[in-house]
Amino acid sequence: MSIKVGIIGGGQLAGLTILEGASKNIDFAVLTDSRDSMASHLINNIYTEDSLDEFVAFSDVITYEFEHINPKILENNKLLDKLYPGVKPIELKQNRLKEKRFLKEYNFMTVPFYETKDGKEAYEIASELKKELIIKSISNGYDGKGQYVIHTSDDLEKIKEFLINSKDEFLIEEFCYFDFEISLIAGINNDIIVYMPMTKNIHKNGVLLYNFTDDFSMEIQEKAKAIVSRLLKTLNIKKGILTVEFFVKAKDIYINEFAPRVHNTGHHTLDDTEYSQFELLLRAILDLPLYHPSLKTQGGMVNIMGNIQLDKDLMKHIMLVEGAKLYWYRKSPREGRKLGHVNITAKNIDFAKTKIKSVCKILYPHQNIC
Ligand code: AMP
Repeated sequence: MSIKVGIIGGGQLAGLTILEGASKNIDFAVLTDSRDSMASHLINNIYTEDSLDEFVAFSDVITYEFEHINPKILENNKLLDKLYPGVKPIELKQNRLKEKRFLKEYNFMTVPFYETKDGKEAYEIASELKKELIIKSISNGYDGKGQYVIHTSDDLEKIKEFLINSKDEFLIEEFCYFDFEISLIAGINNDIIVYMPMTKNIHKNGVLLYNFTDDFSMEIQEKAKAIVSRLLKTLNIKKGILTVEFFVKAKDIYINEFAPRVHNTGHHTLDDTEYSQFELLLRAILDLPLYHPSLKTQGGMVNIMGNIQLDKDLMKHIMLVEGAKLYWYRKSPREGRKLGHVNITAKNIDFAKTKIKSVCKILYPHQNIC
């Protein structure tokens, strides 16, 4: 008998998990309204909110690929009994302020931040602070959406009208001139915690463009692991996966945000690690053995985003880069949309960076971003 896993959401995180599980006699169902998603190209077991009970009945275990889940779904007790890594991280992640407040309450280091009840107050506080800031919408603000970077008073004046008229709550963060950004993904099954190899992440306009495995000091690695392990315990996560994104500045590491799921910064593990973040998720929620997956080789990933058509010509160019592996999510191209990614592997980090640059130039020939 196969094992049955239900995933809330049918995008690429679900799709890549399905591909990984298919070779392990795991059957999947997804809960999604979208037919323009990776999972709907891979499986027929697609359920919607109207067929929630059937989705729950199908699944031995349920997990999720995003946190902005309709609260109605989370009222289903049978679903909650099967849900990993649980509902608490979802509640925190649905609201940036709750997430930041939680981190502060439990003494996790973050950049200084300020809470505001509406846009008018956000404007007033930002004017008084006279600092470089990022003003963030508190919900649905992912991939750089709903974020306003304020370097000068002119930047603030440009969005004054918008802020003053907005009844939404905003989070104001001090702008952090970090040395670099990293992320660490951990899997947990009761008392056992294991970590994926850490990556350095390069964002452009608030969106991940590429990342790579790097030569991190033991000190940074140990600090990041200690934080992730404490966060898993503080969130009371018993089975599942947790990704934490950090800013590193000198010896300090600040949590930027966490995600209780597989993550874009972990896609490289499909090719350069003993087992991938998707397999880690399955192992963790299905009580399968966990061990620390080591790097088999250095590696990295470049996101394919925006109005890119994957024709045979583009495919050929990507495939000419030795060690490059293409993942296409079969979604319709749209400005800013993540459509796929290219993993690369290489003998050493310098070589990995060179390959990333080559792939980046192939994908974005007219943009000076790589
Ligand atoms: P977020 O959606 O909050 O994860 O932000 C996306 C990206 O924006 C981060 O990965 C950083 O590159 C940048 N960013 C976010 N917050 C800050 C901050 N307080 N200071 C500097 N850069 C930031």
